[in-house]
Amino acid sequence: MAEDQSHAPVPPSPEFAAAANAKADLYEAASADRLAFWAEQARENVEWADDFTEVLDWSDAPFAKWFVGGTLNVAANCVDRHVAAGNGDRVALHFEGEPGDSRSVTYAELEAEVKKAANALLALGVEKGDRVAIYVPMLVESVVAMLACARIGAPHSVVFGGFSADALHSRINDAEAKVVITCDGSYRRGKPTTLKPAVDAALDKGCPSVTNVLVIRRNGEDVAWTEGRDVWWHEALEAAEAEHTAEPVDAEHPLFILYTSGTTGKPKGILHTSGGYLVQTTWTTRSVFDLKPETDVYWCTADIGWVTGHSYVVYGPLSAGATQVIYEGTPDTPDKDRWWAVAEKFGVTILYTAPTAIRTCMKWGEEHPAKHDLSKLRVLGSVGENINPEAWSWYRRVIGGDRTPIVDTWWQTETGAQMIAPLPGVTALKAGSAQVPLPGIVADVVDDAGEPIEGETAGYLVLSEPWPSMLRGLWKDDQRYKDTYWARFPGKYFAGDGARRDADGDIWLLGRVDDVMNVSGHRLSTAEIESALVSHPDVAEAAVVGATDETTGQAVVAFVILRGGHEEGPDTVADLRAHVGREIGPIAKPRSIMVVAELPKTRSGKIMRRLLRDVAENREPGDVTTLTDSSVMDSIRAGASGSA
Ligand code: ATP
Ligand code: MG
Repeated sequence: MAEDQSHAPVPPSPEFAAAANAKADLYEAASADRLAFWAEQARENVEWADDFTEVLDWSDAPFAKWFVGGTLNVAANCVDRHVAAGNGDRVALHFEGEPGDSRSVTYAELEAEVKKAANALLALGVEKGDRVAIYVPMLVESVVAMLACARIGAPHSVVFGGFSADALHSRINDAEAKVVITCDGSYRRGKPTTLKPAVDAALDKGCPSVTNVLVIRRNGEDVAWTEGRDVWWHEALEAAEAEHTAEPVDAEHPLFILYTSGTTGKPKGILHTSGGYLVQTTWTTRSVFDLKPETDVYWCTADIGWVTGHSYVVYGPLSAGATQVIYEGTPDTPDKDRWWAVAEKFGVTILYTAPTAIRTCMKWGEEHPAKHDLSKLRVLGSVGENINPEAWSWYRRVIGGDRTPIVDTWWQTETGAQMIAPLPGVTALKAGSAQVPLPGIVADVVDDAGEPIEGETAGYLVLSEPWPSMLRGLWKDDQRYKDTYWARFPGKYFAGDGARRDADGDIWLLGRVDDVMNVSGHRLSTAEIESALVSHPDVAEAAVVGATDETTGQAVVAFVILRGGHEEGPDTVADLRAHVGREIGPIAKPRSIMVVAELPKTRSGKIMRRLLRDVAENREPGDVTTLTDSSVMDSIRAGASGSA
């Protein structure tokens, strides 16, 4: 079934609006006095050991200090305070293993585990300020490990469990981690996998800072053991003291380092600190998802290996006292309805996922979600890429029963928390647009000279004022921090994304600035042409790049995946070209369209257009180390040379 093509704005239902956590007057309050607004959020959303004396110190810009003088313990905010408030029996985590095992952990149980894990790390000699690398699948222990680090003030660096030994090796050394926390193995697509061998291989290449490896036992696979270095997690926790007093740290104490997904180039080690980060992640969890911790069951499908897993699995939801689901495996194991079975089983009310997952579900067909009762869902979220209007409408109709608001949230590893998003119950929703900066956030669309653009012309997205959860720098690379984000438009944070405003002032993201195409002097956005392709009933996913062209400067080259049940026919390419011509204009018609089975994606599910540009321009693809499956590039290149 095709979606409603009008995509008229969807106003909030009066019932939802009446009960919503967010109210329209937040915008006024925040624009009247932005720092007072954040001070209020800081005191309402976070428990401080010492109150702060200054909201923002920007005197050493672009290095910010938020909530100066304040002290807090992030882990105690995420766990202990809920137990102290009498909610120890509330479930914090419903864990669903891929083989079907599940386990529910209350806040009181989580507190006991985190305390022991903190003591276990201390017993291994980890001190406040020491870094800990975490290389794990989605398990309860993984969340405990992150919180235990936060509890003792040891910044963690989580490395996605699917990354290679090489990627792990460089990240361990960059952060000079003292301990690595890993796991024997996990389950992927019905089969046991192993993680520990990659840690062994990384350490064999030389990681002089590492003294111990803590190994969680998950699937019982045989793993090599280095006596004196390797320690079983469960044994360390059994031996650990049960009591641990959480020491407050300074608001600016480092909480974690996390590398970006590498969509545009070499990953950057983003540094986040404690107070401001916790304030903004907690506040957005409550406002953007309308989280009611007493009644909601929240599920963010992101892996903890990327920022969404940090901010919207671990820190934001737990600090807000949520009951949430974490799932170990893939969405199609044993069948393509697994996510919907999990959502039904736990009665999920709020779901946060990525456009790539939604488009995959569209490709698989709506019969899979139709098998399950999803009637408890009341808020849906999207993050990571543009959500094409077609995918938005499908998400709302098929998953949300045409009743749930959808919050399309724009943010980055660097921003730490959501920045541009509608507020459910307040904003009339537009399919495909992240719409409005959240209260307290100042975003703009500017031209080459950094001047705000009036009207609908495309430009660059910038953040004009600092925000609490902003990155505090790149790990050990102050210069790259200044050059990457603050040099292009002095005094403003350059996000690297293109954007435009519509007649209502709503913001539409247009894709990476690096990906914007210039065809015969016309600037075309990858996101808009991709959305036009996806609005064709045959197309499930599309990626568009600009390739050098002798006559037009650049030409539009498209790669498309067809929807389930559709096969490429003799007219497919001509049909799709004509469709783009009708939707956007003849100038946007792709020079060539290639039907492919898969697109190259990062581990967090983003399309890597730079690799497709290499194909379109007949080059060897560049750095593929953060790709999910590098064989995808081989098959696309084989197809490209076959059709050339
Ligand atoms: P790298 O910076 O290493 O190239 P990355 O930018 O993919 O990697 P992330 O920080 O995970 O790493 O992704 C942030 C980017 O994702 C944003 O800059 C934007 O391009 C895109 N993005 C995230 N959410 C949205 C959204 N709701 N709409 C459009 N784009 C989004
Ligand atoms: Mg980026």
